[in-house]
Amino acid sequence: MIIRDRYAPSPTGLQHVGGIRTALFNCLFARSRGGKFILRLEDTDRTRFGECYVQNIYDSFAWLGIKWDEGPDAGGPFAPYVQSERTALYKKYAGELLKSGNAYYCFCSSERLDKIRQEREASHSSETGYDRLCRNIPAEEAGKRAEAGEPCTIRLKIPLNETTVFFDHQLGDIEWKNDDINPDPVLLKSDGFPTYHLANVVDDHLMEISHVMRAMEWLPSAPLHVIMYNSFGWKTPEFCHLPMVMGQDGKKLSKRHGATSIDEFRRQGYLSEALLNYVALLGASYEEGKEIYTLEEMEQRFSLDKLNKAPAVFDYKKLEWFNGQYIRMKSDEELASLCLPFAIEAGFFGAQGREPAPKQRDIFTAAMPLIRERLTFLNEAAEKIAYLFNEPAIPGAEEFIPKKSTLEQAVELLKLGKDLVVSLAQAPDDEKAEAFIKAEAEKKGVKLGDLMMPLRVAITGARVSPPLFGSLRILGPEESLRRVQRAILACSS
Ligand code: GLU
Repeated sequence: MIIRDRYAPSPTGLQHVGGIRTALFNCLFARSRGGKFILRLEDTDRTRFGECYVQNIYDSFAWLGIKWDEGPDAGGPFAPYVQSERTALYKKYAGELLKSGNAYYCFCSSERLDKIRQEREASHSSETGYDRLCRNIPAEEAGKRAEAGEPCTIRLKIPLNETTVFFDHQLGDIEWKNDDINPDPVLLKSDGFPTYHLANVVDDHLMEISHVMRAMEWLPSAPLHVIMYNSFGWKTPEFCHLPMVMGQDGKKLSKRHGATSIDEFRRQGYLSEALLNYVALLGASYEEGKEIYTLEEMEQRFSLDKLNKAPAVFDYKKLEWFNGQYIRMKSDEELASLCLPFAIEAGFFGAQGREPAPKQRDIFTAAMPLIRERLTFLNEAAEKIAYLFNEPAIPGAEEFIPKKSTLEQAVELLKLGKDLVVSLAQAPDDEKAEAFIKAEAEKKGVKLGDLMMPLRVAITGARVSPPLFGSLRILGPEESLRRVQRAILACSS
C-alpha cells in the first residue's frame, strides 16, 4: 500500500504542541514507510481565518525543520492544497450526494435553528442538533426551491437506526450508533462554502490519503465521515486518533500550564531540536532506553503499534532537560549564533537590536564553553557572561571574605591573587592554570578555595559564576589584573 497522510490545520490560531505532534507523527509515519506527507490548509471557516495564522504554520515548521512532500508552497499532483481554492469541487460533490439521495436541501433559517435551541434549553431537553424538518421535503420540490434561489444549505442524510463500524489503529474496532451522531450536519453552507466534514472527506479521497492520523477530539467526526465515504462509494482511509496531550494535573494542556504555542517556546529560548524530540515522545516510543533522537532516527523507528493508548502528559521539566542536552551538543560557534539573537534583541550590545562588533562576537563565542553546561535556555546566555563585556559592580567587602576568615585576610588573599592573575590569564588551558594556582597556594600555605573565592568575586562580581580560569583567559592579563587591583582598593578603603 502506498502511504499518504496529511496534516490539515485550520489557520484559526497559532500552532501549538498538540498540532505539531499530529504533524510530526504523520510525517514520521509517512517517512517510515516510504510514503508521502502532505500539508493541506483547511481554511473554510472564514470567520476565524487569519492570514497571520497561515504564516505561523510556515514559520513554525520551518523553524522545527519539518518538511512536507506536497503542500500549498511545495505543490504536488493534487494541487491546490488550500481548501478555499477548491470550493467548486465541494459543490460538485455535495450535488452528487443530493442526487444519490444521501443529502438534502435544508431551508431552515438561522432564526429557526436558534429558536429550537432556546426551546430545548428552556425545557431541559437532552436532544441536540437539527430536528430534521427539511429531511421530509420531497427531493423534487426541494430542488425547485433551491433552483429558484431560496437560501438553503445541504445536509447529510444520516441513515437512522443503523450502526457505523470502522477500525482505528489506536482504539480498535469501533461501533457507533448513527442515532448518537449529531443529526444531519450541514455539508454545504448557504454561502456556498463547505463545512469541515465535506471538504475534509472530499479532499482526503481526492488526495488519495491512506491514513488519517489526527487528535482524539476528532473521533466523533469519524463515523460521520465513514457514512460519507460509504455514500460516495469511496474507500475509507485508515484512522488513527491520537490520545490527548494533558498537563500534569490531568487536564487538557492549555495556556494555564505554560507555553503551548511554538512561538512562545521559541521566544523562551528553546531549541527546535529539543522541542521536536520531546514532542515526538509524547505518546510514542521508539527504542528501549534511548531518549535523544534526530529526525532521521525517528523516521526510521516510528511505527503505529508503538503509540501509547493512554493520554500523554506534557512535562515542562523534562522538556527543559532535553533543551539542556541539545545545548550541550552544540559547538561554540553554533551555540553563539543561537544565543546571539536573544542578546541582540535584549539590547545587550547597546541599543535594542544592535549587532555586536566583531570583537564582541569573538568574546561571545569564546565564552560559550564557560556556560554551555549551565544553560537551560538560549536567552540566559548573555546575562551569565555580561561580566566579560562590562566591568561588574564591586560587591560589598563582605562578599570577598572566605568562610571563617576576616576582611584583612581577604585583602591578603587578593594581594596574593594579584601576583598570580597575569600568569593564570596567560595559561594555555584550565589544567595548566589549576596546576599553577594549586602549587602557589601550597607554597603560601593557604587553602586553594580561600584563594580562588575572592579572586572570583573580583573578576566576575559574584561568588557564584562561570569558571574562573576561562574567564581570566578571555579578559586577558591586563584587564584581569586591573579588576583585582580595583577589588583590593575597594576592600582596603
Ligand atoms: N482542520 C482540522 C483541524 O483543524 C483537521 C482535522 C483532521 O485532521 O481531520 O484540526
